[in-house]
Amino acid sequence: MTAGIESSTRWPTIRKHPLALQVQPNLLDYDATCAAFSWDAARSELSGPPDGRGVNIAYEAVDRHANGAGGAKEALRFVRADGTTHSLSYAQLAERTSRFASVLRELGIGRGDRVFSLAGRSPELYTAVLGTLKNASVFCPLFSAFGPEPVRQRLQLGGGRVLITTRALYRKKIVPIRDELPELRHVLLIDAGDEPEPGTLDLATLMQDAPPYGEIAMTQREDMALLHFTSGTTGTPKGAIHVHDAVTAHYATGRFALDLHPDDIYWCTADPGWVTGTSYGVIAPLVHGVTVIVDEEEMNTDRWYRILAEQGVTVWYTAPTALRMLMKAGTERAADYDLSALRFVASVGEPLNPEVVVWGQEAFGQPVHDNWWQTETGGIMISNYAATEIRPGSMGRPLPGIAADLVARDEQGAPLLRDGEVVLVTEPDTVGELALRPGWPSMFRGYLNEEERYRRCFVGGWYLTGDLAKRDADGYYWFVGRGDDVIKSSGHLIGPFEVESSLMEHAAVAEAGVIGIPDAVAGEVVKAFVELRAGWEPSDSLRLDIIGFARKRLGAAVAPRELEFTTGLPKTRSGKILRRLLKARELGLPEGDTSTVEVPR
Ligand code: AMP
Repeated sequence: MTAGIESSTRWPTIRKHPLALQVQPNLLDYDATCAAFSWDAARSELSGPPDGRGVNIAYEAVDRHANGAGGAKEALRFVRADGTTHSLSYAQLAERTSRFASVLRELGIGRGDRVFSLAGRSPELYTAVLGTLKNASVFCPLFSAFGPEPVRQRLQLGGGRVLITTRALYRKKIVPIRDELPELRHVLLIDAGDEPEPGTLDLATLMQDAPPYGEIAMTQREDMALLHFTSGTTGTPKGAIHVHDAVTAHYATGRFALDLHPDDIYWCTADPGWVTGTSYGVIAPLVHGVTVIVDEEEMNTDRWYRILAEQGVTVWYTAPTALRMLMKAGTERAADYDLSALRFVASVGEPLNPEVVVWGQEAFGQPVHDNWWQTETGGIMISNYAATEIRPGSMGRPLPGIAADLVARDEQGAPLLRDGEVVLVTEPDTVGELALRPGWPSMFRGYLNEEERYRRCFVGGWYLTGDLAKRDADGYYWFVGRGDDVIKSSGHLIGPFEVESSLMEHAAVAEAGVIGIPDAVAGEVVKAFVELRAGWEPSDSLRLDIIGFARKRLGAAVAPRELEFTTGLPKTRSGKILRRLLKARELGLPEGDTSTVEVPR
């Protein structure tokens, strides 16, 4: 049974006429592009290292351009705290990444060895990602704000041989756990300076002494390239394995979902510590030969608007939580900046409330394009496109080359099987588990050391994503919730996202997190945690007003029965609301893995 479908269709569709767009979109006709697409054809648009030697992500991202006419072009433009910038051209990046590969080689680090990073967004970090891949080693980025425990857990699980970090992070986070990391052979400090730090090496000196040129190590499509730990919304971190062929998907999705064109100034606000920051903050844009903006600082409303304006960003890929913060700050703030260069805005990581999609038109002169994917898929799977209409609240339609469907679930939430085959949802607007047909190049190839856990993700020839969604009659997908977050109340299946989005339409509500709490009659009832916009104070009358507002929109069965005001929803460092944690705290249950939580108690 589904609930609250009406609210999915309440927001008017946003239509865009191609002629009104500043640049001709790469995907003009969705059906024709899907019909004509093949992964082999996409592969053939990448060149592969000389001599037909397999495929290497770093070659496609850097040397392909540096060897050709694009060497002098700006590849990475870093924005310092004071707003000044410093850049690396494709040729400089090619040289530096080759030197980094040589450094690894000289240290005896080779094919398949894991190189970790724990560092802020500096040129050395980007050099390390790509240099590691040139050496056929495996790169595993960690988010620099992690504490010692999540760092230890991931370095141990991943068998890290090398760690690139800074002196301060080393002292604070690695020194306390170094004895527990026997496999960690080398720690390379980005900012070693003149004073040696015991147990570490100076990256700058190693880079200076390393031979600048060397052949890119031969890698094949299926060679492991990247190890990404999932962000921990659902339990212990899992290390998702990705291979060099993933670059084919990064290329194709950068083209269709982000609409990258060679002259773009592109900014992805995600940190490379997360899969988005690697797949779309490093690889996809560089493969397209565009100029990538990297902000060395953290989020701040005026700073972000200033970067968009001063750097002339044309394509911007960000997250719902950041957009909600900008919206909370008020549309007038956007009006103070010249955002006329911006032609495409996309968002990922969490459900994007329809209100935010529409607000994009006010603030940026265009809607926000939601897209969906996860660490395991390695690249964007479902998206709204530059030329196609947007149905606010919908994640869009599957990328060319991606076969998505919805698998029906039984009472216990397991995939429904008939004669050994999974049952697919055929009715429109009906909830099922979002499933993908394996075979796209950036699909994860395993969870590190967890074969059984990996196997369980595949049923009846489908990869099951763990997310619940609906599909409308025209094939647009609508997110309902993580399978674990969905609320069952008096026989209704309630997706927290729909309730949260409705709450956000109330003038006082900035952000909301919704969970189910046990109820003797209904099984579960909805409880909402609400953060207020600036200028509003919590009160009983406001609580009743918001609940009444939600009831009118969603009906009494779906609207929150309880509502608590809060000043900080728990989120992962990548900005996802941790409903699991809200629930554990509410019910006094064990909190599970909280290593990546941003908002403390
Ligand atoms: P992670 O693997 O940590 O990046 O998290 C992936 C999960 O984030 C997905 O399985 C979804 O639950 C959620 N997610 C990502 N993008 C979206 C989106 N556009 N709409 C709704 N949920 C999303």
